[in-house]
Amino acid sequence: MKQKVEDLDWKNLGFVYRDLPYRYEAKYKDGEWQEGKLIEDSTLVLSEGAEILHYGQEIFEGLKAYRREDGKINLFRPDENAHRFALSAERLAMPPFPEDRFVEAVKQVVLANKEYVPPYDSGATLYLRPFMIGTSNVLGVQAANEYTFRIFAVPVGAYIKGLNPADYIVSEYDRAAYAGTGQAKTSGNYASSLLPSVEAHKNGFADCLYLDPREHKYVDEFGGANFYGITQEGQFVTPKSKSILISITKRSLLELAKKQGLNPVERQITLEEAFNMKEAGAMGTAAVISPVGSITYEGKKHVIYSETETGPVTTKLYNELVDIQYGKQEGPEGWVQTID
Ligand SMILES: *Cc1c(COP(=O)(O)O)cnc(C)c1O
Repeated sequence: MKQKVEDLDWKNLGFVYRDLPYRYEAKYKDGEWQEGKLIEDSTLVLSEGAEILHYGQEIFEGLKAYRREDGKINLFRPDENAHRFALSAERLAMPPFPEDRFVEAVKQVVLANKEYVPPYDSGATLYLRPFMIGTSNVLGVQAANEYTFRIFAVPVGAYIKGLNPADYIVSEYDRAAYAGTGQAKTSGNYASSLLPSVEAHKNGFADCLYLDPREHKYVDEFGGANFYGITQEGQFVTPKSKSILISITKRSLLELAKKQGLNPVERQITLEEAFNMKEAGAMGTAAVISPVGSITYEGKKHVIYSETETGPVTTKLYNELVDIQYGKQEGPEGWVQTID
């Protein structure tokens, strides 16, 4: 059933799938990407032998369209998503989707579903989910030779409402191997994080914090967001690791932190160091920043800054990035693309 725009309560959208009027689809066959187009059907028809069902060739992206105060719509660094999507494709032995066509397709989906971009003052956005799957039949383990690329859109509320500190637990599981697929945005990494996150939720935690999979000594990232800390000296630090997905939010905050004189650096961060941060947060498109209230490890809870309040550095970074995304403040060259 198609979602009717008049049935949407902009202030209570949550983060759930809804079937909007249009999505974009392009297929790869005979060694090349075919012309894509907007379609209305939200379903996919697959053979039981399709690669994705057995050996997991899937990659995805997540980005948002923001309604500006003047009614126009902003996209935030969609070219970065296009580029990361191509890198993920390469790691999964899939044919990269041309980056310029990716950005063009994102715009087509936003414009086709324009009335579903939430109003400026709702705090909600239109979330875009590009993905690609291997569709040809395989039995032996091999890469597919046919693929489907799609982008659908869903209006979503603020993922975690406002800047409320959350409690995290250090996982005993790994989400990705050292030289595995951690740097690719692929469903397999999420499949391996489901059991840890179910257990974390059962114990009252927002999510898991994963350690580096080789030594279990350094902080890697959360299930779907990168970690940063503000040291006692006021430096913005964020992990450098071969097994994390490089967040576009993180890369943006590194630049803003530099302008704010926080002397940002990417380096290994031990768990002990993380416990002693002045402030810490989780960075990703969904929540922008989710402040870390505490990290629990081996039964001991380490409070960072406060369990109920958000620190000043985190608040300032959050506000600056959100203002840029909504067009209230000018960001660095090329970060925002306005469409209407
Ligand atoms: C998508 C994702 C992030 C966040 O990346 P953004 O580009 O900021 O949205 C972080 N970690 C993982 C594992 C992810 O899949």
